[in-house]
Parts: sequence; C-alpha cells; structure tokens
Amino acid sequence: MDPNVVFAIMNVILAGMFGAVIGSFTNVCIYRIPEGRTIVKGHSMCMTCSHELGALDLVPIFSWLCLGGKCRYCKTPISSRYIKIESLTALMYILMAATHLSMFPDPMDPSGSFYPFIELCALFIMINIVIVEMMIMKDTGSSMYRLSAALGIDFLVQIIGRVLTVVTTDASLKEAVATWIENILAGLLIGVVAVFIAVIFSSKPKELGKYFSDKKMRAIRTSDLFAIVLCGCIGILPAAVAAIVYMIARIAIGNGKNVKYLGTILAAGAAVGYFANCLIQVL
Ligand SMILES: [Zn+2]
Repeated sequence: MDPNVVFAIMNVILAGMFGAVIGSFTNVCIYRIPEGRTIVKGHSMCMTCSHELGALDLVPIFSWLCLGGKCRYCKTPISSRYIKIESLTALMYILMAATHLSMFPDPMDPSGSFYPFIELCALFIMINIVIVEMMIMKDTGSSMYRLSAALGIDFLVQIIGRVLTVVTTDASLKEAVATWIENILAGLLIGVVAVFIAVIFSSKPKELGKYFSDKKMRAIRTSDLFAIVLCGCIGILPAAVAAIVYMIARIAIGNGKNVKYLGTILAAGAAVGYFANCLIQVL
C-alpha cells in the first residue's frame, strides 16, 4: 500500500480518537464552568452516588456503551449527552482531518513546515469552544459567531497563503487577489439575496417597513445581517449551502422573536457547505 495512504488513514483515525478524548474534556467543561468549578483539578464522580470514577469508567464513548449508559456502582442512568458530545467531537475531528490531509506534517519530509498543522490544531480547538458554548449558552447565537470566525479565519489564511506563494510573479498575484475579491463579493451577494427573499416571504406587505423600524425585530435583523457577513467570509459553495438552509429556516419562523436556533441552523449549513467544498478540493 502507498505509504501516503497509510499515513492519511492513520491521521484520520488518530484525529477521531483525539476528538473523543477532547469531547470527554468538553463534557467536563460543560458541567463545571456554569457551576464556577475548576476544569483542571478534581476527580470525576457519579452525580448520583458520588462514587469516584476509575480509568475504565472514563474511556470516551466506549465506557458509556459498555456500561449500557448506567453508573457502574449505583446503576443510575447516565445522561446520553456524554456520548453524544464525545461522538460529535470525534466525528467533527474525523471530517476536519479527512478534508485537511495536506495540513498534517509529512513523515517522509521532516524538514517540512509545521505551520499548516498549527493552524489545523487551532481550528480543532475552536470547534470545541463552539460546542461548549452552544451547550452552556443553550445557543443564543454567540456560538455561530465563533464557528463562522473559525471558518472565516481558515478561509482567509488559505487565501493569504495562496497570495504569498504567487507574490513573486505580478500577473498571478493579481489573479489571486481578483479571485479572493470575487469570492467575497459572490458570498455577500448570495447572503443578501437569501435574506432579501426571507424578509419578503416572512412579512405581510404592510409590515415590510416595520422590519427596519421595529425594535422588536432587532434580534432577527442582527441574525440576518450576520448571515450576510458570514456568507461573505466563507467562499461561494459554503455560502450557498448556508444561505439556502438559513433562508428556509428564516421563512419558517417568520418575524417572531424566536431566533434561538437560527444561529445553529446557519452554522450547520455553513459547516456542511464547508466540508463539501473541502471534499471537492481533495477529490
Ligand atoms: Zn452512581
């Protein structure tokens, strides 16, 4: 087998295992931060019988499955949130690793740059900040800012990297900058169109003016504006997916104050488009 394929598979598997471990730590953060407790010290214990948990009780994903979702000592059911967060993190890490294979260090070429790998690790960490925030804040929108910031930073770093590699020849630099600007403008346009359609279809003709004047609509206006900005940050394909998903959800909820899940829906749409885009580039 091609050693590169072996390294690629190993990297994806290791990323998944690492994701499950980080997911386990994410669970600790979700439970302890709101209570003001430290996340670095102290043993984990059962919330019902307070029995201290051993190493075998703390293996991510597998412990929950092997124990049938119950405490080993008092048999009280354990929240399925633990395994959901661990599996979600593992899955996200696997997706990130599989779509960013070129960013892992090349074992055949130790002199290669570690910079892309550091950037990838920063993205991994940001994914977990988003998950912790979503769970603690019950998502009131702040998580989507983090996720889109992560996707936007990754996009910008890729573009800047591309610009720097062609900086020696003027013609290709011009081309790279032009592509960059085209990408941002196209994303912004997609966002504006999606929000425009959503506003038209979720208001009665008489109420259209209220959209801009009514104080009650501030939350939904912020959400709309953010959808547009996000679309401009993440490139054409992710923007298209995010915009369509957002538009449908936005029309479905109308102009109500209930914008609670719009952020998560927009972020999920952006993530789907983002990974699809990465997969297309890999294939
Ligand atoms: Zn117990």
